[in-house]
Amino acid sequence: MSYQVAIVGGGLAGKALALALADISIGSIIFEREKEFYSNDNRVFALSNGSLRILDHLHLLAEIEADSYPIEKIHISYAKKFGSSLIHASEENVDILGRSMSVKKLNELLNEKIAISELIDIRYGDVELIKDQKEGESYQLKYHGFGHDFQFDPVLIIACDGLNSSVRKTLGIKVIEEDYQQIASIFNVSARKEVQFTAFERFARDSAIAMIPNGKNHYTAVWVMNAKGFDQDKFKDSQYLQSAFNQSFGKRLGLLKVKDNTSFFPLKRSISELSHKKNALMVGSSAIHLHPIAGQGYNLILRDIAVVAELLGNQVKKNNLNLKQFLNDYDQWRHEDHRKVSMFTHGLGKLSSRSLPFVKEFFGIGLFFFDTLSEGKNILSKHTMGLTGRMPKAMIR
Ligand SMILES: Cc1cc2nc3c(=O)[nH]c(=O)nc-3n(C[C@H](O)[C@H](O)[C@H](O)COP(=O)(O)OP(=O)(O)OC[C@H]3O[C@@H](n4cnc5c(N)ncnc54)[C@H](O)[C@@H]3O)c2cc1C
Repeated sequence: MSYQVAIVGGGLAGKALALALADISIGSIIFEREKEFYSNDNRVFALSNGSLRILDHLHLLAEIEADSYPIEKIHISYAKKFGSSLIHASEENVDILGRSMSVKKLNELLNEKIAISELIDIRYGDVELIKDQKEGESYQLKYHGFGHDFQFDPVLIIACDGLNSSVRKTLGIKVIEEDYQQIASIFNVSARKEVQFTAFERFARDSAIAMIPNGKNHYTAVWVMNAKGFDQDKFKDSQYLQSAFNQSFGKRLGLLKVKDNTSFFPLKRSISELSHKKNALMVGSSAIHLHPIAGQGYNLILRDIAVVAELLGNQVKKNNLNLKQFLNDYDQWRHEDHRKVSMFTHGLGKLSSRSLPFVKEFFGIGLFFFDTLSEGKNILSKHTMGLTGRMPKAMIR
């Protein structure tokens, strides 16, 4: 098989990208360092309506529907403040806002599809980016596997190697970083009250909780807390956990039962100054990594992937791969969506930290008016569903 594209990193971004490329008849090879990267991952992702369209285009929707839970409403509120806001699918003229799916299951599904694709090869082991020795004009890859080094010389290298991308470091591309000084913890929560198909975003003075529904009265909660004074061990005490969580979330769903099998993520925003250099492009957390409170990271990545496939697909149809043009077109197309989503999630991230005291004072009342202003809500819901700006064809219905 000739690999036109080499993908460094077989995480959720790298695998979905390989499937999108196979869909336009482009063969790729994925290099993945860790076979069991997501085996201890207990997160549940909120996949937006826009993402489901992309996954449908990749023939993954039937399996996703069978293993996920629909989200029809998002309830947003601020602790101890008057007012709240409800985004409802029916008001947005869509059947659902999105679906929640376990990261482990999504990863398994991508693995199954890759295993049966004749256009995708996957190698486990470490890979290193090296400069073309003769010309210095492009990059190649050195793969360390089975006790030997193999060199690969693909037309295009796409780095999907995560937040601490070694490809980005070798390319010498800087990142703009902001440490939120916050920790996100993931918990399984069950509620007494049954409020079906509804996600909750609850902000408080220095914390926030996103509750993603994954069953009738079951949720996966992302609890964002201040890193200062954070003590992981406290959460092993189930009584403490139970009462602290209920206090933070409030009484909207009755008394909540919280399980303590959690994982912790220090939070930061990281945005690469450049998306590409020579024949290497960055997609996924290597290019942009966001605050998780609005669950936008992977949704944004799926739109990037759909655009990569559409632009490359257009060139394949013309039998003319102009790499420079592809990379520039990609940059131009994706810049605005990256900017808007990163601003939007950054704002919500700040709202859950100790900053922005003035905004917080008015947040509750702001939500109240916001709920009556369909225009403002419409903008927020369109962002949440990923249905703004120039959309790739895979998302248009
Ligand atoms: C708490 C939390 C909750 C979230 N919730 C949501 C949500 O609800 N919805 C949403 O859309 N997004 C969400 N996100 C964002 C989402 O997690 C990321 O956008 C997404 O996982 C990024 O995937 P990735 O493949 O780019 O990176 P990663 O998942 O980090 O994968 C990188 C892969 O590259 C491999 N790798 C690295 N270096 C090398 C190398 N040199 N050679 C070979 N392989 C290498 C790694 O082993 C790994 O498999 C959340 C994030 C967090 C932290």
